[in-house]
Amino acid sequence: MQGLDSLFAHAGLVRSRRGTPAGITRELRLERAMPQELTQTAPEPRVAANGVEWLAAPGWNRMQWLWHGFSTRRGGGSRAYCSEDAPGELNLGFTASDDRAVVEHNRRLLAEAITGSAETPLVTLKHVHSNVLVRAGAADAGLSVPHKGDGLVTDQPGLLLAVQTADCIPVLVADTKRRVVAAFHAGWRGTVKRIVETGVGRMRLEFGCRPEDLVAAIGPGIGACCYSVGDEVLSAFESQFAYARELFREVYDSDPVRIRYPMLFLTQRAPGHSPIGPNLHVDLTEANRRQLLDAGVKAAAIRVVGGCTSCQRELFFSHRGSQGFAGRMMSVIGIRVR
Ligand SMILES: [Zn+2]
Repeated sequence: MQGLDSLFAHAGLVRSRRGTPAGITRELRLERAMPQELTQTAPEPRVAANGVEWLAAPGWNRMQWLWHGFSTRRGGGSRAYCSEDAPGELNLGFTASDDRAVVEHNRRLLAEAITGSAETPLVTLKHVHSNVLVRAGAADAGLSVPHKGDGLVTDQPGLLLAVQTADCIPVLVADTKRRVVAAFHAGWRGTVKRIVETGVGRMRLEFGCRPEDLVAAIGPGIGACCYSVGDEVLSAFESQFAYARELFREVYDSDPVRIRYPMLFLTQRAPGHSPIGPNLHVDLTEANRRQLLDAGVKAAAIRVVGGCTSCQRELFFSHRGSQGFAGRMMSVIGIRVR
């Protein structure tokens, strides 16, 4: 069976879960869905004076003390991931294909769009899909070798904490009473390691934050519509979370011809035994929302920004959607200087 899997992987396919030997059925059936039922459309981006297009968390502008934003690919001067005649793009990661000076310029544009000053220091991390949290200060900004980790937290005003994504889920958290802010990077591995739950725990421990004072925003990442995963991801979640199965769906990936001409594909087979799909999809946005709830954040205090990086590639960079050749977006949060 492994040989078959590697053959499928080589061809860019995911083996159907129907590959399970006959007679072996799952104890519990997963809910089924079509991709279009699972997608969440992003809101219209804001356009800064310098051309950077970014998304805000609904309602967060009321907090005058707070800076925050989720970048898109629009704005900036990168030419690495667009066609020759396209306007430049806002790649914010030091990727192999892009020019470092251009990325540095793009980062200054983002800081300017969010804080009004291109000089606002930006603290970044080298992400390692962990639950490692770094307590950041101004001295941590602009390091040539950034700290390793997947969460940043600070109570110091005047700097922006940044996590980088191109499918993974960015999560921003702010304590509205104590004025502490945090940013988390959650791919499936970091989610299984409870980066967000651990991070909120550290905010309580190190800064005395109370969960009832926290607000959180989950930014755009790859949606349950597009995030097809292998059985090992389901197993990893099941080993950690009692609610794991609620995060997964069996999805019949859309085939435009089939949707348009379903009669052509009618067979005598029982429902669910058609030759295509289903594939296992995981909802990382919901997974991280559950962690925020388990950490004590009130449901009404959690905003989901919306948007699927893989569906909306004109707006977002997507690692999976571009077969690994993609720029990086940044999600930033900070405390405004009074
Ligand atoms: Zn999608």
